[in-house]
Amino acid sequence: MQYISTRGDRSPKHFCDILLEGLAPDGGLYLPEHYPQVDDATLSRWRSVYQHQGYAELAFEVLSLYIDDIPAADLKALCRKTYTAEVFGSPEIVPLRPLENGIWLEALSNGPTLAFKDMAMQLLGNLFEYELARRGEELNILGATSGDTGSAAEYAMRGKRGVRVFMTSPQGRMSPFQQAQMFSLMDDNIFNIAVDGVFDDCQDMVKAVSNDLDFKRRYKIGTVNSINWARLLAQVVYYFAGYFQATKTQAPTLGAGASSLPPEGAVSPWGGAAAQHNTEKVSFTVPSGNFGNVCAGHVARMMGLPIARLVVATNENDVLDEFFKTGVYRVRSSADTHETSSPSMDISKASNFERFVFDLLGRDGARTKALFGDALARVGFFDLEAHPAFSRAASHYGFDSGKSTHADRLATIKDLYVRHGMMIDTHTADGVKVAREHVQAGVPMIVLETALPIKFAATIVEATGREPDRPARFNGIEALPKRVVAMSADAQAIKTFIASHCS
Ligand SMILES: *Cc1c(COP(=O)(O)O)cnc(C)c1O
Repeated sequence: MQYISTRGDRSPKHFCDILLEGLAPDGGLYLPEHYPQVDDATLSRWRSVYQHQGYAELAFEVLSLYIDDIPAADLKALCRKTYTAEVFGSPEIVPLRPLENGIWLEALSNGPTLAFKDMAMQLLGNLFEYELARRGEELNILGATSGDTGSAAEYAMRGKRGVRVFMTSPQGRMSPFQQAQMFSLMDDNIFNIAVDGVFDDCQDMVKAVSNDLDFKRRYKIGTVNSINWARLLAQVVYYFAGYFQATKTQAPTLGAGASSLPPEGAVSPWGGAAAQHNTEKVSFTVPSGNFGNVCAGHVARMMGLPIARLVVATNENDVLDEFFKTGVYRVRSSADTHETSSPSMDISKASNFERFVFDLLGRDGARTKALFGDALARVGFFDLEAHPAFSRAASHYGFDSGKSTHADRLATIKDLYVRHGMMIDTHTADGVKVAREHVQAGVPMIVLETALPIKFAATIVEATGREPDRPARFNGIEALPKRVVAMSADAQAIKTFIASHCS
């Protein structure tokens, strides 16, 4: 499998070449030159692999279609080392639980930092360590986070040989729990940098450094932001796992609409007549910011996973909802980026969106470059409404969208707590709110649970009057000593900082 850039550069690259890179040299994002097709028989085999051998083996099946420069035995060992019940809290790794009326929650947030980003980042940490050792090289990871990426990256990379992490975050914008998670790490290879600005200022600093090819080469700068293809690929796996769980007991012999929800904790015989043929479709609603999570769903769907709809849920920062409703992609300025109670979705431009638009435009690299490299830089928006491709976003690629506000978030969290005694986090609440508006009879709707409520406790208390549960290992972390450096939103400042810590 070779990888190409969304902006037209077709010089062939393999997985491990792009693993340690961020943007392609032409400023585009990497995508596989084609999406491997998963036929019905393979889907059935994967269902059985997940059921009988577990998530790590399923991950190996998916990854090995895209990675041909790591020996199979090594790749399998990396998957097994990553996806364990000890690290992710259950043998299913991403257990599905019923919520209401055809809506399910897929738990992606039981890893080390309690957000879905651990799903990809834990694998990335092991891939980086493996590849750097193989090459005898070092890597300096430069990242931007609004909270969850940074902690997931730091917990994945702490103590790893050959890797340093320089993580920028917007000063004072993360929740106290998130700040404590990151800033309490004392590992020598972890550097926290609090930037005077918003998330997009941090992301711009990272991009500016990555675009300085000399500096990038000299200091071996890599990234773990969601533009990294390996992260996106790791996320593709749980769309398959979600599908297999949602369709496992819905064989036609049970009768349509029969109570097909297994009791909590039940070990049910997976499969059945319908499962043999994977005729059922499911839909996903994905709380979205940088479009990384839902882009993995797009990849799964392109591979042939029977996904009816991919519903993009945004908060008040509705760049993506606006695009799917109108065809206009209009990035916001920092000043127009709202600070919300689902802060990990507070973005003004969605850095992975270019990947989808590249596919939408029939993989026309020149056109993609004209939109993202030119129009956005010049006028801050582009409009595809009149383009014939735009209608295919829904009809051909299954995309739909919706938006949720602070009031919606509070109402949804309170409603689920009062009626079911269940607490969900603010981002997942945006997903549930939008999923309720898009659920179709007979099609399971899976909402991706992107974080646990304890990470955003203040809003949960506002909605329910109660403090969310806290896993014991996080007791008292807010009181721990903090290790963080303050910096202005200036690419030169961070270059100087990196240079001074790399000798
Ligand atoms: C990162 C994050 C999101 C947004 O995911 P994208 O891949 O950027 O679209 C949503 N919810 C939570 C809790 C997150 O950490």
